[in-house]
Amino acid sequence: MTALEDPAAPPQLTSLLGRIDDLHAAEVAPREAALAPRLSDQRGYLDDDGFLHPEIWQARREIMRAAGAAGVYASHLPEAIGGGGLSRRDMVFVEEQVYAYGVGLNPALLAWSEGATPRLIFCHDHQRERFVDPLVRGEYTSLHGVTEPHAGSNFYDFTTRAERRPDGRWVLNGHKAFITNAFEADVAQVLCVTDPGEGKRSFTYFQFLTAEHRGKAFRTGRLFQTMWGDGITGEFVLDDLVLDDDAIIGERGDGFDIALASINWTRLRRGGMCAGWGRFLLERTIERATSRIVGGQPLASNQGIAWKIADMYADWYGARALSLQVAGEIDEPGPWWRSPRPREEVRKICLLKLANDEAFHRIADTAVQIHGGAGMLRDSDINKLFLIARNLKVPGGSDEVQRSTIAQTLGLG
Ligand SMILES: Cc1cc2nc3c(=O)[nH]c(=O)nc-3n(C[C@H](O)[C@H](O)[C@H](O)COP(=O)(O)OP(=O)(O)OC[C@H]3O[C@@H](n4cnc5c(N)ncnc54)[C@H](O)[C@@H]3O)c2cc1C
Repeated sequence: MTALEDPAAPPQLTSLLGRIDDLHAAEVAPREAALAPRLSDQRGYLDDDGFLHPEIWQARREIMRAAGAAGVYASHLPEAIGGGGLSRRDMVFVEEQVYAYGVGLNPALLAWSEGATPRLIFCHDHQRERFVDPLVRGEYTSLHGVTEPHAGSNFYDFTTRAERRPDGRWVLNGHKAFITNAFEADVAQVLCVTDPGEGKRSFTYFQFLTAEHRGKAFRTGRLFQTMWGDGITGEFVLDDLVLDDDAIIGERGDGFDIALASINWTRLRRGGMCAGWGRFLLERTIERATSRIVGGQPLASNQGIAWKIADMYADWYGARALSLQVAGEIDEPGPWWRSPRPREEVRKICLLKLANDEAFHRIADTAVQIHGGAGMLRDSDINKLFLIARNLKVPGGSDEVQRSTIAQTLGLG
């Protein structure tokens, strides 16, 4: 590692970060080597229909399970539900280390939106064995069904309904779009309108095992191929899917708050992710600029290039320092999944996402530029991260949504 690690991780993380290094060496690196032709060429990464190739899925699932068994995968969740109980600030260091390994299979070491999310914190005891435990152990994957074909940024536009029948059972109908892991998820967690007109209390989360309804009341549809070709984003419909009260996460009417707890996690998680991938790009760009000889001189000997790298460093360090500061402030009153939150905290969570999205996008753009033609190669790590950086500005609440919320908490609009 380089001087870019400053400020260093707190001592209580030394053992965990060491274990993650060992896990990466034992579980990730060999699988990346075995799958190198698929990981380095989009044509092998996807199957003939454009879906993530089954061999990559299998490797990801094996890594998730190994990370679950090693107590790494769900480090962010409370110990009471089998997680590692780490603070948000500690998670910045953990996520940074995992993402700094690169853009291969390494992200599978930690739960992301298709895994053990904070929605599990709101599950009841009777949902532990069926849903929570296998997700925390990395044995299952999940999907988060919120966005719809005609509604994304505004909660009050959602129309997927869960209606209570006279016999007390719920019937779900609706259409969700742009859903990560729509096709492979073992567990579906879907936001529905149960009580229209009740403001924030209008929404309720339901969960079910997809295997029990797939091809019947739960049907996946089109693959939405994203700009970097992830092969896992798509749509599904619910067609008279019948569930009982025990499928509700939290209580009826809690959906808005649970969604925000979940989305706030997505936003806070940008800190470590962008610090890790930003460091990866910065290190590769320094390496390239010092080793590439143009006109008899290393590229980096041009002040114009050196300054661009200095700007990358300023973006990286500034966003990382902000993330550590905000995460520490969010930990202080705790717990980080609390919702609703005081407006100052909401503002800072949005600031963290906005600052990281924008800084990381600039870093990735400059990395591509300094790599010249090599940066344009479709399957290069630099290019993949540039496309990912562009994407990050939309999900989890777009940059416009972050700005609007920051403005609202400042008393504007
Ligand atoms: C790769 C990927 C994965 C995703 N995964 C999931 C998932 O797993 N689950 C899920 O539920 N969703 C998921 N999404 C959907 C994502 O959350 C939405 O795309 C996002 O919330 C924006 O909604 P929209 O696409 O409907 O845009 P729209 O709401 O149509 O907005 C379009 C644009 O207008 C801007 N805009 C909207 N309102 C305003 C306003 N009042 N003022 C200024 N600007 C505004 C938006 O910021 C955006 O730039 C994913 C999206 C992508 C790209």
